[in-house]
Amino acid sequence: MEKEMCQSYKKNDLVTVTIEDIGTGGEGIGKVNGFTLFVKDAVVGDVVEARITLAKKQYAYARMEKLLKASPYRVEPRCPHHRRCGGCQIQALDYERQLVYKQQKVRNNLIRIGGFDSDCVDRVMEPIVGMEDPYRYRNKALYPVGTDREGHVVTGFYAGRTHTIVPSTECYLGAEVNKQILEIIVAHMEKYHVSAYDETTGRGLVRHILIRKGFNTGEIMVCLVINKEKGKEGIPQQAQLLSALSQIKGMTSVSVSINSEKTNVIMGKEIHILWGRGEIRDVIHVRDMGKEGYPYTGQELTFSISPLSFYQVNPIQTEKLYSLALEYADLTGREVLWDLYCGIGTISLFLAGKARQVCGVELIPQAIEDARANAERNGIDNAFFYVGKAEEVLPAFYAEKQGEDQLCRPDVMVVDPPRKGCDPLCLETMLQMRPDRIVYVSCDSATLARDLRILCDGGYELRRVRAVDQFGHTVHVEVASCLQRKD
Ligand code: SAH
Repeated sequence: MEKEMCQSYKKNDLVTVTIEDIGTGGEGIGKVNGFTLFVKDAVVGDVVEARITLAKKQYAYARMEKLLKASPYRVEPRCPHHRRCGGCQIQALDYERQLVYKQQKVRNNLIRIGGFDSDCVDRVMEPIVGMEDPYRYRNKALYPVGTDREGHVVTGFYAGRTHTIVPSTECYLGAEVNKQILEIIVAHMEKYHVSAYDETTGRGLVRHILIRKGFNTGEIMVCLVINKEKGKEGIPQQAQLLSALSQIKGMTSVSVSINSEKTNVIMGKEIHILWGRGEIRDVIHVRDMGKEGYPYTGQELTFSISPLSFYQVNPIQTEKLYSLALEYADLTGREVLWDLYCGIGTISLFLAGKARQVCGVELIPQAIEDARANAERNGIDNAFFYVGKAEEVLPAFYAEKQGEDQLCRPDVMVVDPPRKGCDPLCLETMLQMRPDRIVYVSCDSATLARDLRILCDGGYELRRVRAVDQFGHTVHVEVASCLQRKD
């Protein structure tokens, strides 16, 4: 039998291809003569003419040049910048199909990376929790500030994989008020000749604008990230700027963060409050995830959030995620437990309401300050917190307190690490501590799958997995999972 031809292509070749799948970066995947193409901006089901941008032996990257036949899953994106912006990779894909993609992504990672068999995965995975309205969901926005060719101050977003600012004050994922805030700041900078930071020279004052809004309280925080030397004197004609910003309904806190480093890290560690309080508050309600529409249970907590602290970006979906974590923890009131990577203590404090004792661990000191204040504000006295790396605090605690403290043999451990997942030392200590249950909340299903495999090889069984879409129109997805000790 004749072998299937595997024709090679080279840069700039034009190819007609039918898109059959979606890649990890949201790109369309299609095959021509056994050759795989990853096509930016193509939607699954499309037939497109694509131009090759980078060719390898067996596969190539390409860009959609012409849409020949639109997929039934293709929709009109709300944002005119969606192709250039690095933020939304799949805004042209119908939202219901986005959910199918994310459910499959989690399933595939559990099978391929985690090595779980497909029957097991299909048994434990529940349907993804989608959003009712996948726009205007973000409570946080970070805008870079720069200067355009004509010397005007601009703010907007970075074009995908670059640091070129595409001017735009309107992002359909963010709060509507962001536009008004950005316009006030840009107008002020123009009027008083306040310079924007220039990454190449390291000169100029204003680097980024952080805006946060408590969706349930309406409280707004603005934090300008500025370059130190000039930042000492604050922002020129600061009083005028503060007067304009403070007129905005809900404005609660205006601050500056000093960052003089030549770095991609956005926030500087030093914060100075210019107007109002140093934090905003938000309320999170617990929901009943077993009932249709996920109604509120009546349990709720109020949280303080300062500029440097992590806070989940999608408040509505966060309530669902936390409610699942709480359900998976299955507490009776007698348990002793850990909440690793606890941020401002959100999950910890919900757990504390149903447990004997909770201990949170978090790297960022300001977040732990928030966590302690949050415990006090909500009248919770059975939660305490450590600042440090989970992979250092946990083994040190275990080595020192073994046999003395019940936290060395906890009932439940909750972990919610950043994208890179848990450190091996953290996982190893968790296995030594032998909790009955582990609730693993993750924003990266690949590292989740890797870590779940380690925990299952160490004596646990995967019981429940449920994805929650916190990041509509992007390829990211949050997952809650639950493991049970086998003996
Ligand atoms: N559970 C919290 C925070 C989750 S985000 C919430 O839902 O709000 C992950 C958190 O882990 C961040 O606050 C980050 O600062 C923290 N973090 C990152 N690396 C860490 C480490 N090695 N040890 C402890 N915390 C860490």
